[in-house]
Amino acid sequence: MFLRVDKLQIELPVPAAQDPNAAAALQELLGGKYGEMSTLNNYLFQSFNFRSKDKLKPFYSLVAAITAEELGRVELVSNGVAMLNNGPDDDSDEDEGGDISDAPYEDMKDIRLAAAFLSNGGGATPVNSNGVSWSNDCVTTTGNVIVDLLHNFHLECGARLHKLRVYSTLSDPTGREVCGYLLVRGSVHAHAYALALKKLTGVDIDKMLPTPNINLDQIPECAKYLAEGSHRRLYTFSPDDFTEIKGIWEGEKTLPGDPKGALEVVEGMPDGGKIHQLTGIPSAFTPDYAPEEMFEIAPGSTRNRGNA
Ligand code: MN
Repeated sequence: MFLRVDKLQIELPVPAAQDPNAAAALQELLGGKYGEMSTLNNYLFQSFNFRSKDKLKPFYSLVAAITAEELGRVELVSNGVAMLNNGPDDDSDEDEGGDISDAPYEDMKDIRLAAAFLSNGGGATPVNSNGVSWSNDCVTTTGNVIVDLLHNFHLECGARLHKLRVYSTLSDPTGREVCGYLLVRGSVHAHAYALALKKLTGVDIDKMLPTPNINLDQIPECAKYLAEGSHRRLYTFSPDDFTEIKGIWEGEKTLPGDPKGALEVVEGMPDGGKIHQLTGIPSAFTPDYAPEEMFEIAPGSTRNRGNA
């Protein structure tokens, strides 16, 4: 089962400007073929379906622990998408929506993912950058441990390719920060699956990394995560369980091109950061056209929004 913590894996910088097309590009990392919905659901169902869990504990634990990280990643990318759709916050949710008869959102009919505004009010959904729904066709759970781990290795390398391409389309700090963090952590997952395969088969598949062949120190948004050693950490994402992943991760080497140091398993989760509070936009009926009464009804919800 799962425990939910009201934080993001990292705090995201506020967007410099509203950019719905950048948000659409970021959707590829959520609902694209190699996006977070794919990594999450592959590991989620593989972990459910895993046979001989007790006898293969380190490998089961690896898939189970990374599942939890990927769920938080769906949350992180979704927040990034919504922030880019929203742009810098103001206090507009103080008021009612005003006169909407003058087509205040005329521009929105011309953006790439019009449904992101028309149906979702600027929020994220599990679709790719062209609005195609994420699907179960992206899930592989064969019951064969080697095939599944090999698939996961491929998935993480594909995700790295995705992230590099999306990163190279973005100029806004919010989307770039999402990519920078995901590149560091995704590389950890590729590395961990490679080491698991090496343990089981004797094949040094970790020598294929990094794929694509670009070092993370060439991405400025990766620098602080490399400096704090995020590339060396694997989290159990559990208060007590999944510590057997130490047998796969600890004692191994950092990838060539990454800052050197011991690989370590952290029992628990990262410290995380604050979830950005999106203010309402009454003229777009979020949280409503005239939300004042709602704010009065919901105890503790009033006059304490924004970034404070
Ligand atoms: Mn991953």
